[in-house]
Amino acid sequence: MPEGEWLVEIFNSVKDMQNKANLLRLQGKKIAFVPTMGYFHEGHLDLMREGRKRADYLVVSIYVNPTQFAPTEDLDKYPRNFDRDRAMAGQVGVDAIFFPDNAGMYPPRYQTYVDVEGVTKTLCGASRAGHFRGVATVCAKLFNIVKPHVTIFGKKDFQQLVTIKTMIRDLNMDIEVVGMPTTREQDGLAMSSRNVYLSAEERKSALCLSRSLAMAKRLFEAGETEAAKILDQVCGYIRSHAYTAIDYVKISDVDTVEEVRTAGRHAFIAMAVRIGKTRLIDNYVFGEDLNISYSEER
Ligand code: AMP
Repeated sequence: MPEGEWLVEIFNSVKDMQNKANLLRLQGKKIAFVPTMGYFHEGHLDLMREGRKRADYLVVSIYVNPTQFAPTEDLDKYPRNFDRDRAMAGQVGVDAIFFPDNAGMYPPRYQTYVDVEGVTKTLCGASRAGHFRGVATVCAKLFNIVKPHVTIFGKKDFQQLVTIKTMIRDLNMDIEVVGMPTTREQDGLAMSSRNVYLSAEERKSALCLSRSLAMAKRLFEAGETEAAKILDQVCGYIRSHAYTAIDYVKISDVDTVEEVRTAGRHAFIAMAVRIGKTRLIDNYVFGEDLNISYSEER
């Protein structure tokens, strides 16, 4: 079918999605799966394009999962636009969207949760109580519903990717996990559905996240490996921007997500920063590309 005219099947019911997955598997088809909360941007689409390449049938889920939001967080105002999402998915060759409601995902007497322990203790796990328990639980459920052979996640949510890989390994789920690089706006800001919350002034300040990562990269490449020194400069730079409040900035091991004292190729710098009321995250794995220009950060 020509680009832009791909027919996307919509599944709202868990049972219908499972029946479809069973049929595909019986036919020997390979299923790729991209879980999302919707309100698509190019970052989501890049994950879908990767999934398209890797399988015969590509499923995307759109579900704003209540169990991963704390009561004080933005569950109710999280941006949603199903028709726009469906059109965008069609343009990158998605075969099906799984779009369940809360009653289908968490029916009465629901009582089972997945707790991935060590890797969720730090960073976002420390500042968002229960967040990764919700993420792991909904992903385990989605994997049992969509029955994928391969699933694609973004490295933008690096700790989430580590959590999902750990769950899949520990629970012997037979699913390949692919981590994709962060897709950025031209000026470096990591794409996020939450960027729509930013005012024009806040949007300018939000550049301090990606630019401070570029600063960390430059320091590392110039030979600085002492985490405390890199963090000091990065935090100072972020604080010099209006509307910013640092939730955390840490350098951690890529497998354990425990803080380290020395930056190296097995470490990443991750940050969560509030810009006004909007909490944004970003990260950089030392030694990898960052795909942004870093001459403008001062
Ligand atoms: P979300 O809808 O925000 O829950 O994200 C769904 C998936 O898209 C997750 O695997 C995210 O890590 C991934 N993702 C979100 N933003 C980006 C981005 N800028 N670049 C690449 N992947 C992303």
